[in-house]
Amino acid sequence: MVRFHPPQPCCDSRREASLIRYANKDQYLAQQPGKDSMKKICGKCKVEKDINCFSKKCKGKSGTQLYVSYCRECNIEYQKNHYIENKEYYINKRNEQKISIRRYINSKKNHCEECGEDHIACLDFHHKDRNEKTFDMIHALNYCVSIKNIQKEIDKCVVLCSNCHRKLHYNDRGR
Ligand SMILES: [Zn+2]
Ligand SMILES: [Zn+2]
Ligand SMILES: [Zn+2]
Repeated sequence: MVRFHPPQPCCDSRREASLIRYANKDQYLAQQPGKDSMKKICGKCKVEKDINCFSKKCKGKSGTQLYVSYCRECNIEYQKNHYIENKEYYINKRNEQKISIRRYINSKKNHCEECGEDHIACLDFHHKDRNEKTFDMIHALNYCVSIKNIQKEIDKCVVLCSNCHRKLHYNDRGR
């Protein structure tokens, strides 16, 4: 059962999950089996609907199933508006994350393992075994990958300057 939570400003990953669900909303709205005959009035549109039109919440104290107060359609609308109204906040937060990711990645680039070049602008991460590569470091920034996963990826790499890196891949290709 897919849960629907209103996005909290403090929780980016949950917001992303709900946005993904929003993107798949047609599929999501289609999951409404009608076997349960309970009804509930939506707190937003005030329409009485089948209980299956509401997403399940955690169980209550006595073990009874609780449901969110807005029907699925209203919940989707609510989440979309929430994002639009708080867009600036989310964009700022994302930019801050990017800055700290960039800082972290740069702090791990000391010098080229081949020639010792140490200018940060020239240094790349090269995957020692390309089969173990999960992502390129550039994606760490674009997708705001967690520091923990970035470090995992860095552990599979050596630092090379752009010249040594190019030469290595050139030789790899067998000229
Ligand atoms: Zn509603
Ligand atoms: Zn080098
Ligand atoms: Zn490489």
